[in-house]
Amino acid sequence: MQEPSSSALGDEFDQAVRKLTGLPDTVSTRSATVTVHESAFAMTTQDWIIQTFRRSERHICKATCPTECREEGRVTKSTDVAFVRYMDHRGAHRFVLPNEVLDTIVRQRDALGTKNKRRAARETTRRRIAAGEDLGAALRDPKVQKKARAARKAKAAKRAARRVS
Ligand SMILES: [Zn+2]
Repeated sequence: MQEPSSSALGDEFDQAVRKLTGLPDTVSTRSATVTVHESAFAMTTQDWIIQTFRRSERHICKATCPTECREEGRVTKSTDVAFVRYMDHRGAHRFVLPNEVLDTIVRQRDALGTKNKRRAARETTRRRIAAGEDLGAALRDPKVQKKARAARKAKAAKRAARRVS
């Protein structure tokens, strides 16, 4: 929670917005307003206003590139920051979510998706075994084995390509 500032220049939130606005290597989304109706006890309304900025560092081939890749302007690193304004019946708050926090949120959501997929797959296997199906039969099928080998190979190639770039 931030104290109201008497300064015409605002607080850290305003300063962070100002720092990113109009920079040539920075793009931003429009502000999006999300209204959430919370009704655990009584219907209350939350308004979230969210805007994300991305600042990019670009490759400068001439001066710094050891391999002269000629990929002038290729983005080498980008840093995101999200500005969040929250309002409810108790008042308003403003948050600056730095890149590390946004990364963590994305990673955690991905991890939950993976967890749910694994859980569903385990459940399917368990049900098929319980129904008396011979799961090993499919795995011993040469056609299935060939397909699995190809999939593993493609996956390894993809990983190798990611390491190079
Ligand atoms: Zn280069």
